Amino acid sequence: MENETEPLLIEPKAILAEDKEVHRRRDSRGRDSRGRNKESYKRFDEEKNLDGWIPKTELGKDVKAGKIKSVDEIFESGRKILEAEIVDSLLDLKSDLLNVGQSKGKFGGGKRRAFKQTQKKTKEGNVPTFSVLAVVGNEQGYIGMAYGRAKETLPAREKAIRKAKLNIQKIQRGCGSYDCSCKEPHSIPMRVQGKCSSVTVKLMPAPQGTGLVAGDQLKKILKLVGIKDIYTKTSGTVRTTLNTAKACVDALEKLNDVQFKK
Ligand SMILES: [Zn+2]
Repeated sequence: MENETEPLLIEPKAILAEDKEVHRRRDSRGRDSRGRNKESYKRFDEEKNLDGWIPKTELGKDVKAGKIKSVDEIFESGRKILEAEIVDSLLDLKSDLLNVGQSKGKFGGGKRRAFKQTQKKTKEGNVPTFSVLAVVGNEQGYIGMAYGRAKETLPAREKAIRKAKLNIQKIQRGCGSYDCSCKEPHSIPMRVQGKCSSVTVKLMPAPQGTGLVAGDQLKKILKLVGIKDIYTKTSGTVRTTLNTAKACVDALEKLNDVQFKK
């Protein structure tokens, strides 16, 4: 008896799900209430499909053929990465979005959001644009950050993540804390300072067990770099997340200017 009833239980659910898909309210451009259309859902799913990747550049062909096995080789040769899949196939990347935007709220009380919504005023009406700041990293010293803009939220995110992958760079980690003096890369090797507009970000090495002493947005970046213990100090208009993030990456880049004994 049980075998017969089970399929009956599953079928009505499946039909219901299909009905919902069909009857979801869509406007003239095929968008649902959240401003997304079916295509944008699809495109995001296809993003991680590496087997179907057909490389277009020489570098991409070399990577697919297995001639190049690490991103460092590409950096040393000085070739430019033009396909996001190159980085995808060489590194195991995680991505995160920083809250650069704000949802609508009276008296500046809007909640922080990943998507920044701006509008252009035209005769035909207001044309909104969405922008996102994406960070990618493998938590082993590689990081990339980029800004993406599009007329809808999901394409903007894809653009930002794609661009962030092309901007990938290596960050030197180490342990420069006097309280710790181990040789594991859990912190940074020395004090650095980065700047963007009015925002200054100071990064200082910390002993093991300190954790990330930083704001929520900076934590996202530092975590993706693979830093576990750090002290930070910021000054300026820190609430401008875009500048804070750029200042942080600027500081991290300065770590590469010095060579340390291993
Ligand atoms: Zn240490």
